[in-house]
Amino acid sequence: MTTDRRDLPILMAEEFRPGTFDGAAVWATLTPEQQAEIGSRALEYVAACEAMSYGGYSDVGMPWSRAGEASIDAAQSELENCVDSILGTESFYGPDEHPLLPSCVGMFCRVCGCSHEDACITDGEACSWADDYLCSACAEVDA
Ligand SMILES: [Zn+2]
Ligand SMILES: [Zn+2]
Repeated sequence: MTTDRRDLPILMAEEFRPGTFDGAAVWATLTPEQQAEIGSRALEYVAACEAMSYGGYSDVGMPWSRAGEASIDAAQSELENCVDSILGTESFYGPDEHPLLPSCVGMFCRVCGCSHEDACITDGEACSWADDYLCSACAEVDA
């Protein structure tokens, strides 16, 4: 199933102001106590992800997989609640009230949101960058 791009809101380049959430920069503003609170929960979240995916590689991992999946929800909400209580949800939004994307995503298309790890595939070909924050697949539709 494909999305008809004509139905998507087209953001003009001049009004597009991508914001980035720089985790390392924000981390550096935290006290050691706050870092410990967030860091321990982040580690538990990754442990839950590992446990859940364990079952996917083998037929014998089911107890770990099931309990891991259950622990992901708990670990994720623990982490989110902890971070929100320390930073405030507003820290994740830019002045234009759009969410900031984590710096790890890199550049993304202002029309469709594709990114380096999630390219559009048209006729078997991956899209490339036609311009800053505009992918070749959307540039063709736009033209
Ligand atoms: Zn695009
Ligand atoms: Zn694309």
